[in-house]
Amino acid sequence: MNTNVLQTPIAYLKGVGPNRAETLKTELGIHTYQDLINLFPNRYIDKTQYYKINQLQRNSADVQVIGKITHIKSVAQKKGQRLVARFVDETGEMELVWFRGQKWIRENLKLNTPYVIFGKTNWYSGIFSMPHPEMELLSEHQGGLKVSMQPVYPSTEKLGNTGITNRTTNKLIQQLFMETKGRFSETLSPSLLKELNLISKSEAMFNIHFPKSQELLAKSQYRLKFEELFYIQLQLIAKNAQHKQKIKGFTFDQVGTRFNEFYSEYLPFELTNAQKRVIKEIRADLGSNAQMNRLLQGDVGSGKTIVALMTMLLAIDNGYQACLMAPTEILANQHYIGIKELLKDMGINIALLTGSVKKSARNIIHEQLENGELHIIIGTHALLEDKVQYKNLGLAIIDEQHRFGVAQRSKLWHKNNIPPHILVMTATPIPRTLAMSLYGDLDISVIDELPPGRKPIKTVHRFDSNRLKVFQFVRDEIKKGRQVYVVYPLIQESEAMDYKDLMDGYESIARDFPLPDYQISIVHGQMKPADKDYEMERFVKGETQIMVATTVIEVGVNVPNASVMIIESAERFGLSQLHQLRGRVGRGADQSFCILMTSHKLSADSKTRLETMVATNDGFEIAEVDLKLRGPGDLMGTQQSGVLNLKIADIIKDNDLLKMARHYAQKFLKEDPYLSQNPVIKHAYEQLVKHKNIWNYIS
Ligand code: ADP
Ligand code: MG
Repeated sequence: MNTNVLQTPIAYLKGVGPNRAETLKTELGIHTYQDLINLFPNRYIDKTQYYKINQLQRNSADVQVIGKITHIKSVAQKKGQRLVARFVDETGEMELVWFRGQKWIRENLKLNTPYVIFGKTNWYSGIFSMPHPEMELLSEHQGGLKVSMQPVYPSTEKLGNTGITNRTTNKLIQQLFMETKGRFSETLSPSLLKELNLISKSEAMFNIHFPKSQELLAKSQYRLKFEELFYIQLQLIAKNAQHKQKIKGFTFDQVGTRFNEFYSEYLPFELTNAQKRVIKEIRADLGSNAQMNRLLQGDVGSGKTIVALMTMLLAIDNGYQACLMAPTEILANQHYIGIKELLKDMGINIALLTGSVKKSARNIIHEQLENGELHIIIGTHALLEDKVQYKNLGLAIIDEQHRFGVAQRSKLWHKNNIPPHILVMTATPIPRTLAMSLYGDLDISVIDELPPGRKPIKTVHRFDSNRLKVFQFVRDEIKKGRQVYVVYPLIQESEAMDYKDLMDGYESIARDFPLPDYQISIVHGQMKPADKDYEMERFVKGETQIMVATTVIEVGVNVPNASVMIIESAERFGLSQLHQLRGRVGRGADQSFCILMTSHKLSADSKTRLETMVATNDGFEIAEVDLKLRGPGDLMGTQQSGVLNLKIADIIKDNDLLKMARHYAQKFLKEDPYLSQNPVIKHAYEQLVKHKNIWNYIS
């Protein structure tokens, strides 16, 4: 079909008009014919099939089941009562439930007589139940007409209130198919269709809206999902390639004395294979003449810092300066101390620049950066200030990406005419393919191996009522010379309350762990940076045994002697945050522990989170669960990075398809960078770029 027809404003479609057009626009973002045709059903009501009870899935789908009611009873509940019927077929049993109209139902239902029931199933305390089912006697049902699968479209309350019901939407789409004759230009090449055994665009569009059968519906979904993911990947890969062509970087072609000297004389341990591989990947980037823009992912404790350090040495070897930016003062401080220690005999000039550096000292740093005396600068956001100018910044490293927005990242770029190479490090373990889709502009390296000799952290869940036992355990650990973190949640909305929780907690700990036997540090967001550092310092030096803190210590802090992490109100933390916090222990040779404290009141999601933490230490596994619980838009750090607004595919459930789409997109662009051999794909791609509003996936 002529693509121009699809650009027709929706108001022109018969049955729409200006008012409905406005509602469709504001409620569903539908401006044109094309937008409406790409409004895909959320689900389908399938009345072509009958399910057996043992085939039911925990997916809340609407299903049809044939069976009999064997008994029926009223069950008292908080308010009034509900009516519960036991419904059986030859494969099992389920419950039918009514909250309203119970009298009529009780009087009219026939026991032990075959019925066809229809409705949404819930899985509840070990049994499927169906609230307020549609019911029909099997004998009557068999006489009636069989309706096929009915699509259920996305809707909003306002749509419903203004008379655009599911049936209306359905009719509008029918109308659209009539006006356009339902012929859609093919958007995938013949070779792809053949190789992947995909149905045509027109057939897929028809069957996604008016499925003739389950099988055709599945094929349509498969094809359209593939198409969607394929073009996103094509766009990302093409952008990335353009970026590399356009943006020239400094070429670091020397692996020189600093790097080699450090490697052979000062490196305190053998690098893991993963660290070696990543350094190689980075070196390849730096040696090419394109700007590096790389994301380094590695679980907490996987040893990203040393990689950062060695990358900085490469910059220095080539006559450039390097900066390392951290999200908090504590962390910047720690990097500064650690890196200074590692480089102490090498005559490399390093400085620390944070908000709490005094003006006079700061001026000296500014000067030394400009005249090139300083080789490495480590700091916080303070590094982004306009006053900070470099002689020749060749490399910028950002630690713990999720605390920085994309805008801040790009600010670093503009410190030079030629942008410095950028390395972004994060411990948020985003599954690789998802990361590739979210951070399309970044190349990705992964450290997927922990340094040897780490004992897995033992994680347990304890209720507040067991606090005395937990404290006894803590005393025993401290007796062995270990140190302990106690972390309280800090959630912006209720900062005052959180602060009170923290202080109450601190007092109670101070009572149970009295002076002079025990020394306690406390760190929270309302303290002055200097006080924070002081308290942190005492803990790092082992002068205090207990560190009471809010989540300020979440990121990066490294105290190998700390072996117990107690997380208070653990049910209030997200999974990736819990994992980050846990990563503060398990850094030394001793067995470490993480204790998740909660009250007895737990939601289903909190329970899943706690169980996951107890079950695994693997950040990627945890990220998968996190994704399932929250969806990708919520993943830490992904909010700012371009939200994927998919029409049909699901980035988690369709992960395999995503990988496949990426594979083919790569293959196409590699063999045919300008798509000149693939006119169909070229055309579809250009349309997509041109009508940004249609497939505006990438912000
Ligand atoms: P993260 O990736 O969380 O930033 P760090 O870089 O802070 O991890 O490293 C965690 C700890 O592991 C540090 O004490 C570091 O010195 C140590 N470490 C890093 N790499 C190795 C290695 N290859 N062998 C032994 N210890 C290592
Ligand atoms: Mg770190």
